[in-house]
Amino acid sequence: MKIPFLSFDTINNRIRKDMVKAFEDVFDSKWYVLGENVEKFEKEYASFNRVKYCVGVSNGLDALFLSLKALNVGPGDEVIVPSNTYIASWLAVSYTGAIPIPVEPDEATMNINPAFIESAITSRTKAIMPVHLYGQCCLMDEIMDIATKNKLFVVEDNAQSQGASFMGKSAGSFGDINATSFYPGKNLGAIGDAGAITTNTKDLSDKVTILRNYGSKMKYYNEELGFNMRIDELQAAFLSIKLEFLEFWTKERQQIARWYDELLMGIGDIKVPVIAQGASHVYHLYVIRTEKRNSLQNFLNKNGIGTLIHYPVPPHLQKAYDTLHYKKGDFCIAEKIADTCLSIPVWPGLSFAEAEFTCETIKNFFHG
Ligand SMILES: *Cc1c(COP(=O)(O)O)cnc(C)c1O
Repeated sequence: MKIPFLSFDTINNRIRKDMVKAFEDVFDSKWYVLGENVEKFEKEYASFNRVKYCVGVSNGLDALFLSLKALNVGPGDEVIVPSNTYIASWLAVSYTGAIPIPVEPDEATMNINPAFIESAITSRTKAIMPVHLYGQCCLMDEIMDIATKNKLFVVEDNAQSQGASFMGKSAGSFGDINATSFYPGKNLGAIGDAGAITTNTKDLSDKVTILRNYGSKMKYYNEELGFNMRIDELQAAFLSIKLEFLEFWTKERQQIARWYDELLMGIGDIKVPVIAQGASHVYHLYVIRTEKRNSLQNFLNKNGIGTLIHYPVPPHLQKAYDTLHYKKGDFCIAEKIADTCLSIPVWPGLSFAEAEFTCETIKNFFHG
């Protein structure tokens, strides 16, 4: 048996006809950037995410960046970010001229630990960026309380967690303004790059709508130093089709996770994902932890099972962040997770037999 880390086969077969039709419709419409398909998808995604406004943009990084820009985050400001996240969360902060201030996660859930946030707040702190990592929603009640108490903005990085929630409220609907990514491998993926911003505040929605399109409300009249961070009609049309299946595909991911939870119980030193009280998890990734990570990954690879490491190097130890002068040991929990985490296959269509084979192979690794 060969199990790829990610397969689009089941998803693509299900939607192929509709996608080809959507391509033909957009092609024949001869209108390719920001149009009626974008408006339609924005309404649908806002409704799915239970927010008033959604603004489609070019990708997740740009969605984060524009969200921060809309809040006037810039040079001299600090933004609190998780020490363990994909580097995009940090880069969005850096691009505004502000400084990302890392805060360690809870080692069990691997999401930012609210208990560590307050000691990172200074007079320069402007916002907190919780990242719902791997698909699990952060402890948004505590994070929102800290933000309110300290008069800070909240910008959620919802790139990995479309459809997740905390106490029944959707990820991407807590913060002042929030960002998500439709990179192909995300739970809701485009056929190329795309992203979106979600908010309940009209002013912020209007602001990013202008910023994404050259700072212009009326063509050739520019109110702000804007950007070209627009979303294509094609991607919006494709995303509308895929959005209809997202809840179903999420349930499949959660079913696969339940198989893994059960089948991996008691094997070696394996730790399976821990879900916090009140949070839901949409399993963008199913991340296990073991001290024998590297040899387990090799063993799985030799047995035809694809895995990845999310992420091998935390942002503070990346060469790109030399300028912040962090060193090994500064964020121990993030470093420990980087050394021990392993993502095993989870994608809509993965069968019980495939999940079982992966777990049997892991068992063979540990118990011969
Ligand atoms: C994918 C991702 C992003 C960036 O999204 P792109 O569309 O690739 O720019 C940001 N944050 C997190 C946590 C992500 O996983």
